[in-house]
Amino acid sequence: MLFKKAVGLACALLTFSAGASAQEQVLNLYSARHYSTDEALYANFTKSTGIKINRVDADDAGILARLKAEGSASPADVILLVDAARLYKGEVDGMFRPVKSKLLEDVIPAQYRAKATPEGATWFGFSTRGRVIVYDKIKVKREDVDTYEELADPKNKGKVCIRSGSHPYNLSLFGAVTEHLGEQKAEAWLKGMVANLARDPKGGDTDQIKGVGSGECQIAVSNTYYIARMIRSTNPEDRALMERVGIVFPNQASWGTHMNIAGGAMARHSKNPANAVKFLEYLASADAQNYFANGNNEWPVAKGVAVSNPALKAMSGGDFKSETIPLAAVGANTVKVQQMLDRVGFK
Ligand code: FE
Repeated sequence: MLFKKAVGLACALLTFSAGASAQEQVLNLYSARHYSTDEALYANFTKSTGIKINRVDADDAGILARLKAEGSASPADVILLVDAARLYKGEVDGMFRPVKSKLLEDVIPAQYRAKATPEGATWFGFSTRGRVIVYDKIKVKREDVDTYEELADPKNKGKVCIRSGSHPYNLSLFGAVTEHLGEQKAEAWLKGMVANLARDPKGGDTDQIKGVGSGECQIAVSNTYYIARMIRSTNPEDRALMERVGIVFPNQASWGTHMNIAGGAMARHSKNPANAVKFLEYLASADAQNYFANGNNEWPVAKGVAVSNPALKAMSGGDFKSETIPLAAVGANTVKVQQMLDRVGFK
């Protein structure tokens, strides 16, 4: 059994290294993204650089587990993950290698380049998503849900639907709130939110929005791209529901709406580091930014890249204030947040 496994691994390595011969330049990409527009994104890179992309698709947890299992034998050159909580974990678990690139520093705003420690390995955001509030326009007044704080206000008792507290999207949001309010107030806020829940957390963000449609929920928390997907849905029921709900970008009068990233980093044991840097730089180019962000209805991060997504415009009304705290601080708070969730009984 052991022998078989070892042979299997050796074969896998052979397959990859055969592709890395002097004649053929390759990039081994581990990606947690799976959007149809990404195909064009990768094809354009190969067309302009001649570097062939070998892709391993898995979810975020699967990729981190695979990297850990492969250790220094890992063929991965670049890792793409979604959410700062996961990118932070990738870095502190030692999966990334520092990248030096003047281009990335010039083009990606400092806010979306993060590392846990000064000697750590930077991860780069290539698109952003907001975590916002959706509400039933008939039953709920907009001014009662225009801040994250109000999710915990007794006036919203029995109305709130949200996915599991320990999902990375919520760990990041709660980590950000902890950064803004301090630990004590953040824990009281989480406790208040638990008291306001319409039902035990279950399902993904789309299920919370649909809960507003079914009447089970009056207020839901969702990432913006799930909302955009519903707005652009080919299912008339989804579009009808989106007519009935209001969308709030919270905390416009204070610290701004919580923004998260989808992004990437160079893999710690990359065998093609020059190609890895080329690929990361390519993702920051205007063309790639449009594919990267639009494929999942997100906002591009690179300076000077315009947004051309009608669903995003419709949702946000154009400009909005987004939060500006360091993503590494958000990531670092997620450990404390998990403990708070256990204490207040947030499932
Ligand atoms: Fe998602």
